[in-house]
Amino acid sequence: MEISEFQRILKNRYLEKDRLMGELFMLSVLTEEVGELAKAIRYKNSDRIAEELGDVVFVAFCISNLFGIDMERCLRSRYVNRSFEEISKNWKDVSWKNHKNTNKK
Ligand SMILES: [Mg+2]
Repeated sequence: MEISEFQRILKNRYLEKDRLMGELFMLSVLTEEVGELAKAIRYKNSDRIAEELGDVVFVAFCISNLFGIDMERCLRSRYVNRSFEEISKNWKDVSWKNHKNTNKK
């Protein structure tokens, strides 16, 4: 399934209801799902991690539909068409960056 097809399916099924609930409610649902993902990762429960990742992506796509955002275009421009260095330039506290800096001394 293509990203655009996934987004279109969600739009057709849920956008009307998501509009009634509103973006702030949807944001609270996304936050709740991220919390559930954190718990699954903390307990290293692979099945739950997969389930919660799906929930996070689902709600993120529902929110994108509320704002009329083309997620395929967004993901391509932010993560496919940019280098790893561009994407990670603001990640100051990543351990491999610290390790890299340590080796330079
Ligand atoms: Mg969940």
